[in-house]
Amino acid sequence: MTSTLSPIINQTLVLKFGGTSVGTADAMRQVVSIIKIEKQQWKNIVVVTSALSGVTDTLLKMASYLTADQSGILEESANDLIRRHDEIAKSLIYDEVLFQSAIQEVNEIIKQVLNLCQAISVLGESTPRVMDTIASAGERMCVRLLAAAIQTAGIPAEVVEATRLIVTDDHYTDAHPDLAKSKLMTCEVLTPILAKGIVPVITGFIASTKNGNITTLGRGGSDYSAALIGAALPADDVWIYTDVNGVMTADPQLVPDAATVPVCSYREIAELAYYGAKVLHPKTIRPVIEAGIGLRVCNTFNPSHPGTRLVAELNARDGVIKAITTVRGLQLVTLEGRGMLGVPGVAARTFDTVAKLGTSVPLITQASSEQSICFAVPVATVNRVLQMLTTAFAHEIESRDIDRVWATEEVGIVSVVGEGMRATPGIAGRIFTALGENEVNVIAIAQGSSEVSISLVIKADSIQKAIRVLHYLIQPPNPAT
Ligand code: ADP
Ligand code: ASP
Ligand code: MG
Repeated sequence: MTSTLSPIINQTLVLKFGGTSVGTADAMRQVVSIIKIEKQQWKNIVVVTSALSGVTDTLLKMASYLTADQSGILEESANDLIRRHDEIAKSLIYDEVLFQSAIQEVNEIIKQVLNLCQAISVLGESTPRVMDTIASAGERMCVRLLAAAIQTAGIPAEVVEATRLIVTDDHYTDAHPDLAKSKLMTCEVLTPILAKGIVPVITGFIASTKNGNITTLGRGGSDYSAALIGAALPADDVWIYTDVNGVMTADPQLVPDAATVPVCSYREIAELAYYGAKVLHPKTIRPVIEAGIGLRVCNTFNPSHPGTRLVAELNARDGVIKAITTVRGLQLVTLEGRGMLGVPGVAARTFDTVAKLGTSVPLITQASSEQSICFAVPVATVNRVLQMLTTAFAHEIESRDIDRVWATEEVGIVSVVGEGMRATPGIAGRIFTALGENEVNVIAIAQGSSEVSISLVIKADSIQKAIRVLHYLIQPPNPAT
């Protein structure tokens, strides 16, 4: 780990801080202290931050108060946001000029949000584009506080809005970056700032279209922002600071004895993130792999803990089952019929229909007899999916090639992740024995072709038990974490 006495040995480090890491004055003080220590170790420090915890949720809620009698709640929420930012500023920004300028800018941003919310309420509806502008306010306010707090601690820092760095398409609320253009823009803006020894403090989550409209990279997307910026520069390392000791064997909120996974492969973390481990946004991995730079997940509130190091290749001793993860709130949709074998392109047509709804499909299984296709979709979309499939296959349903299109009750996916499972015979047997012995019924299974994970579809009310039972299979739990 780092020591304040050693000389500068490294080039460029991107530090990303999540919502809880900047959510209170104490937390942000801790962030400033981490930056101060790392500034002595690295030539260039780049900071990317989320909004204060809960702020993005509040902003999106504010945009949904449409009626006149909700204007009181709107004002209340706005005042609450001002109060939270004000409190942090008062605790951390001692310099009067820096304090006044940060607070004035925060107030200005809130005023813009209120204007937009009022416009939405007059029109009676919003658009994804307006929602993104409103959602971006959280990060835009946070960077102003954090940059001023860093400056107060004696480190030169500058606010940089990522709208100047990352250019995306106009797929508002989940925009896709243009990597080549973003790389150029990122280097053009950040290189001169870094050359002056200044720490850029950058808004995570947000970007802009080529016409300058604000977009966002999807909820939890600040991790992705850090990876994109790290890959563009390129940095040597990207460290994702959060509120737990790195990637853990299960969500510590669900499994209190979850332990840190010290080393995790890119394939494993991709699978974990995809199957619900919120600790890292799933899109974070790709830019980092492609740029060949390091990635680490660590704890703002326990900075001496090494956290998790993400690596391309694992050693044999790095463990077999690494972690258990879960996605809830799903239903399984099944298309079945003995005549399906003869119907051309059933799978293609099925998923084309689902894709038209913009619905994500986290898991697919197909019986080898081709007599059924079964896939998971979020509960909220099930009725639409059933309707669309019934229409798309009306002809086959009439001719009885397809007998039924139906959905199960609510289920979840519990995934067991670990690259070592590939080389270890009998893992699937251990998983099913453990579940069977504890009377957890498995409705369907899917194994990724890379054999990094086994995913089990389980009834909603058995998920907590399944996680607990499967977590016992991870050996040995580390009592120190
Ligand atoms: P941040 O605001 O720092 O981005 P997030 O809330 O997005 O933090 O992600 C951190 C949270 O992810 C943790 O508090 C934890 O509850 C949750 N989590 C879910 N699965 C895991 C896991 N396998 N390892 C670590 N944390 C996990
Ligand atoms: N503030 C954004 C969100 O809440 C982005 C992030 O936290 O990464 O989704
Ligand atoms: Mg996050």
